[in-house]
Amino acid sequence: MSAFRTLDDLGDVQDKVALVRVDLNLPMQDGAVTDDTRIRASMPTILELADKGAKVLLLAHFGRPKGERVSTQSLSMVVGAVESVLGREVMYVPEVAGDVVKQSVGILRPGDIAILENTRFWQGEEKNDPELAKAIAANADFYVNDAFSAAHRAHATTEGLAHVLPAYAGRSMQAELDALEKALGNPTRPVAAVVGGAKVSSKLDVLKHLVTQVDHLIIGGGMANTFLAARGVNVGKSLCEHDLASTAEGILSVAESAGCTVHLPYEVVVAKEFAANPASLRTSNVHEVAEDEMILDVGPSSVEALGDVLKTCRTLVWNGPLGAFETSPFDAATVALARTAAALSREGVLTSVAGGGDTVAALNHAGVAGDFTYISTAGGAFLEWMEGRELPGVAALRQ
Ligand code: ADP
Ligand code: MG
Repeated sequence: MSAFRTLDDLGDVQDKVALVRVDLNLPMQDGAVTDDTRIRASMPTILELADKGAKVLLLAHFGRPKGERVSTQSLSMVVGAVESVLGREVMYVPEVAGDVVKQSVGILRPGDIAILENTRFWQGEEKNDPELAKAIAANADFYVNDAFSAAHRAHATTEGLAHVLPAYAGRSMQAELDALEKALGNPTRPVAAVVGGAKVSSKLDVLKHLVTQVDHLIIGGGMANTFLAARGVNVGKSLCEHDLASTAEGILSVAESAGCTVHLPYEVVVAKEFAANPASLRTSNVHEVAEDEMILDVGPSSVEALGDVLKTCRTLVWNGPLGAFETSPFDAATVALARTAAALSREGVLTSVAGGGDTVAALNHAGVAGDFTYISTAGGAFLEWMEGRELPGVAALRQ
């Protein structure tokens, strides 16, 4: 983490104005926030700055208003939820720059917190317009980025501000960067990656990067079918991207020359219809899948073998469920392997980092999310990091 300034590098912030980029792109239903995870993620940063006497201005985007004021996407709607998580009063400011913000800063006392309006109401945000960044910066003394989940975007408040104000990684950003560094930047070997999910096409770049980085690549989910089919296995009517056969072959050959062992399931769980506990459910060798069957999960013996692979590893990075885990019993492989990874992590022999929307849901479903070393809720940014890309919001924070 020495490559980034953190809150530890801040001097006296009493009376100083902090612009803190957070993730308030919260799931809402009927005007109410349904999940406050993202607020809680930035709570340590916000309260630390407030308790040190800074005036804290929160910056965030919400939805896709495309450069216009859209009243249903105003951040005024999340003020109540932020107040109840923080246990503090929070002021709402209907602008991000200019006199209204200036006057609000004048009213705020040290330790007070305000939410500025949805940054995407201004066209300059997504264009990363330096004029917008300068106008926002004009009312503040320093910038803290605590939104790793938005760091794959080079926008005015995720990237531009770091060039016009002293910039620091917030606590949540710092934890994420630390965890990712341990998982792929400078990992303890051997390293295993689990990549699952529906489609190879959505994670091609992830696979291409990982085969050059990890010692073991475990492929599950719908994407395993594409690899199996490329190797001549009949996958019946499974979800499969047959047109990607040669791409899959290419990835396998890069893996081989890079010394990465690729693990594909040799036993699978199949059914003729995709439904909970279907009558046609059975476990099959991959070579015995019938024309009218679908592969919906990795089979139990294969999962046990994968667990043995994890036992030889010191680091694990996981994205994508091994099966159609939302429907019982096709969650079995994901749950079993997640529990093995969790147990190894608890014993302290495995550093485990996982991310991805459905992956986080699957690990929660398995009841093991708390045992992983780090769970990233960052979605797109996490995937871009798994592709080996430097995220612009992170790069801008480098010293
Ligand atoms: P994440 O959101 O963690 O990146 P993905 O969105 O790539 O993960 O993939 C998750 C989806 O993949 C889940 O909805 C799951 O049902 C689906 N899936 C996994 N295995 C299969 C399979 N064998 N057949 C069809 N869908 C599958
Ligand atoms: Mg998903």
